[in-house]
Amino acid sequence: MTEKGRILVVGAGFAGAVYARTLAEAGYRVEVIDQRAHIAGNAFDETDAQTGIRFHRYGPHLFHTKLEAVVQWLSRFTTWLPYEHRVRALMEDGRYVPLPVNMETINSIFATALNNQAEVEAFLQELAVPHVAPRNALDYLQSKIGTELTELLFARYTRKMWALGLEDMDASVVKRLPIRFNHDDRYFPEDRFQMLPEHGYTALVQAILDHSGITVDLSTPFERAMQKDVVWTFSSMAIDDYFGNALGPLPYRSIRFHHVHQPIKSKTTWAVTNFTDTGPITRETHWHLLPGHNNPTGAAALVTREEPCDYRDNHMERYYPVKTADGIYVTRYEQYRQMARQEPALTFIGRCGTYQYLDMDQVINQSLAGARKWLDEQAK
Ligand SMILES: Cc1cc2nc3c(=O)[nH]c(=O)nc-3n(C[C@H](O)[C@H](O)[C@H](O)COP(=O)(O)OP(=O)(O)OC[C@H]3O[C@@H](n4cnc5c(N)ncnc54)[C@H](O)[C@@H]3O)c2cc1C
Repeated sequence: MTEKGRILVVGAGFAGAVYARTLAEAGYRVEVIDQRAHIAGNAFDETDAQTGIRFHRYGPHLFHTKLEAVVQWLSRFTTWLPYEHRVRALMEDGRYVPLPVNMETINSIFATALNNQAEVEAFLQELAVPHVAPRNALDYLQSKIGTELTELLFARYTRKMWALGLEDMDASVVKRLPIRFNHDDRYFPEDRFQMLPEHGYTALVQAILDHSGITVDLSTPFERAMQKDVVWTFSSMAIDDYFGNALGPLPYRSIRFHHVHQPIKSKTTWAVTNFTDTGPITRETHWHLLPGHNNPTGAAALVTREEPCDYRDNHMERYYPVKTADGIYVTRYEQYRQMARQEPALTFIGRCGTYQYLDMDQVINQSLAGARKWLDEQAK
């Protein structure tokens, strides 16, 4: 295939890797840079030297999707291990209850004996505080599950996660949290595909980037001079950062990950526990309980605890865009997007490029569609 010119891709996470592969297969020479010393972005996983357990440096990444086309595309680069994710919330009295809220959660918290969907629905309706048009996340949750469950399972968690009250947050942030009226305790039952890449995410992204048309430079922060003589730049860097914060920052919540070794608790059979207390930690992951993550010695568990913080207190590590009920940052992002439109030969991609929380399947889906659309436009 004749070479069509150079493309710069900023970021070796899923967004950058999918663009790079799609454009390289179409005959472009793609240069991928990343400021980190590794590929795979926030999905990066590695093996712990002490225990041999695989862990995800930036918190547990569970692959789940409805999108068969995404699974088919990724399956060119990985085999899979089936895995259905389950989460328990630790209550202050030491009991564990299923999350998302299901029949067992309600029976356990309220000491009821509900045993079918109609009974659960009726019970929650009794608890619910009607809000015709929920103005924020608090209204929304109270209108679904009442004040007590809202406070216990969501308000405290939200305060430590976002440093905001539910009343200050947009309802969209909590709308993606399902409430179940049955015994189903799977975290993602709506998604037909739930699995983990057999050899991990880093190996998967490595395979995507393994193409003769792609070069990867790590520990390489973006500089504007790099755009010289490239046909196009696709950038997954933060859009406000690209413009030197000209319109003010687009804030993010971040997380400090504390990776610790501890004796294995044989009673814990689920990988992720959420904390409902008022302490600083939101959740804990026991890696050896994820398939393929191994525990060759069996001696100790590697556990990761997550402590949310402002991204300015964590080396500007941007994880979750802050969505306030007044929409101020969404408006600011739109203004940055207008600025980006004036830039020649540049497209912002991925999570931080588009200031959205996106799961991996969404990023991959958007990136496949975006790269193919761009190729179609070039062919016109
Ligand atoms: C704690 C946490 C848990 C998550 N759990 C899940 C989950 O269970 N399931 C799921 O589907 N998704 C999960 N996600 C979302 C998932 O991480 C994202 O969908 C995915 O990482 C997005 O890929 P991306 O390429 O857009 O961004 P990233 O993975 O963030 O990659 C962007 C890359 O760009 C690089 N970069 C940024 N700025 C520059 C610059 N100026 N110069 C050079 N390089 C730069 C960064 O170093 C980074 O490597 C989770 C996210 C977080 C934060």
